[in-house]
Amino acid sequence: MHLLPQILFILLLGATAYLVSRRVGQISRNILLGRPVGRRDRMGERWKALLLIAFGQKKMFKKPLVGLMHFIIYAGFLLINIEVLEIVIDGLAGTHRIFAHVLPVAFYAFLISFFEFLAVGVMLSCVVFLVRRNVLKLPRFWKPEMKGWPALDANLILVIEIVLMVFILTMNAADQVLQTREFADNHYYKTGTFAFSQFFVPLLSGIESVGTLFFIERFGWWAHILGIFAFAYYVTYSKHLHIALAFPNTFFSNLNPKGQFENMPAVTREVKLAMGLMEDDGQEEEEVKFGAKDVQHLTWKNLMDAYSCTECGRCTSECPANLTGKKLSPRKVMMDTRDRLEELGQYMAQGKSKEEALAMGDTLYSERYISKEEIMACTTCNACVEACPVNIDRSISLCKSGNTLRWKKRMHLNPGT
Ligand code: SF4
Ligand code: SF4
Repeated sequence: MHLLPQILFILLLGATAYLVSRRVGQISRNILLGRPVGRRDRMGERWKALLLIAFGQKKMFKKPLVGLMHFIIYAGFLLINIEVLEIVIDGLAGTHRIFAHVLPVAFYAFLISFFEFLAVGVMLSCVVFLVRRNVLKLPRFWKPEMKGWPALDANLILVIEIVLMVFILTMNAADQVLQTREFADNHYYKTGTFAFSQFFVPLLSGIESVGTLFFIERFGWWAHILGIFAFAYYVTYSKHLHIALAFPNTFFSNLNPKGQFENMPAVTREVKLAMGLMEDDGQEEEEVKFGAKDVQHLTWKNLMDAYSCTECGRCTSECPANLTGKKLSPRKVMMDTRDRLEELGQYMAQGKSKEEALAMGDTLYSERYISKEEIMACTTCNACVEACPVNIDRSISLCKSGNTLRWKKRMHLNPGT
């Protein structure tokens, strides 16, 4: 009977691992629909971009207060995972606060207090972010592409984070009360008080029934870990996937100067031949493909960009086309790309081959997704690229080389040929 919670935990952990890994496989397969692009050069600069922009959140600190709050949520997410590790070990081994038994008790209490400090910081930051979105109604959160699911997704995740933190504090508070009660097996090991949950202890210490206290502690424990399991799967369908993809996305950033052309070798050769700048070496003309019609004409990095987008709208709020009332929203370009990828992923999950899937539904560059009107409004100024906190180079996905004229020719004169 005592093994029942362990068995249940193992089953739930296994189910989560299976669902998340299956989803990761689907997303990877979708990203690999893109064409190849080399991003393994200049490794030093790549590591620097990852450390400064993903780990250090450098671009977020352009607005220091918002940057700090976002950093607290991010640090909380990373560091509270140490506590989650303890919960997972306890769940698998049937132990209770295993780290309290292997670490010096004072250090353990300090560690949990530090996590509680982060938890409270996360809760406060999430409340501020909810207010910014829903009460102050920051314009970038209320653009047309944010209606429906994107707005709900953003709010849901903030609420979920608050609720998860409440469960941690509840669990810790009940634990501290149980530590004062007598147990034959020393199950509730004496850890001392924790920084924030100690303030909830007076609310619970009046409860005489050990069973009720035990239920509250276990409820907080199970609700927290089940919430994390559900969150891990949910994130793969959410804009919050950026918490994982921001790292590879910044590492594989476009390191060239913004807007730098990528000349097409076949066209360069033609021009050089026409201008008498090179001798005709008799080499057979290779087939030149212009334009982009669907996701397979973009690079895998463009497609990873789409899954890494945080939907923050900083790009759109800097876009001169959007600011002057044009239909173009660089954020929507990313969201549309991801939606089309997801659509293709579903076709492939139903057993269709890549080619069959690509022939189904409307292509990415069509009125359903990214329309001609939107593309034509781009000035290729790169303001969106500069603003993006996860280094998304939209000018490349909009025009592959930052050149509107060439983009327009590719897209509309020779769409996908
Ligand atoms: S490059 Fe295009 S999409 Fe980006 S900010 Fe400039 S006009 Fe807007
Ligand atoms: S592309 Fe970048 S700036 Fe724009 S919404 Fe996505 S993450 Fe934010």
